[in-house]
Amino acid sequence: MSADEQSMRRVTAIRNGTVIDHIPGGMVLEALQIFNVDGRQSNPISLVMNVPSRKLGTKDILKIEDRELTQDELDRLALIAPMASVSIIRNYSVAEKLSIKLSDEMTNVAHCVYSNCISNAIREPLPHRLKVLNTNPMTLQCHYCGRNQNLERLVENLL
Ligand SMILES: [Zn+2]
Repeated sequence: MSADEQSMRRVTAIRNGTVIDHIPGGMVLEALQIFNVDGRQSNPISLVMNVPSRKLGTKDILKIEDRELTQDELDRLALIAPMASVSIIRNYSVAEKLSIKLSDEMTNVAHCVYSNCISNAIREPLPHRLKVLNTNPMTLQCHYCGRNQNLERLVENLL
């Protein structure tokens, strides 16, 4: 059994929903924020943290039952987990495999971490645009003020 299969077995089979694998270790809570999962919804959520991964060292796995994430929702995950692999599960089997699509700009995912940036001015309702300069490590730059973003702070600024 491969390491990947072993770690998938830590997550029990679900009937319908979304399984997200290869989230960098320790980042699954940020992934929940990205998908607006706060535990107040009634569908079951399972998460696995810090299991060994050949690709990533350690990884997290997130399982959201009874919800199929859309490609748009998944693309927001590029912020923390551009390598994530996603399976849509229907009737206990993988119905679709999706991956994160990373474009050269992330629009309306998070707002610039600099509070004095024009994009954060209440009187200037601009779309929030972050340029993707590099993916490994992830480097994002604000379209408006040109400043590079601190990813941890950016996660707190999710829209
Ligand atoms: Zn800015």
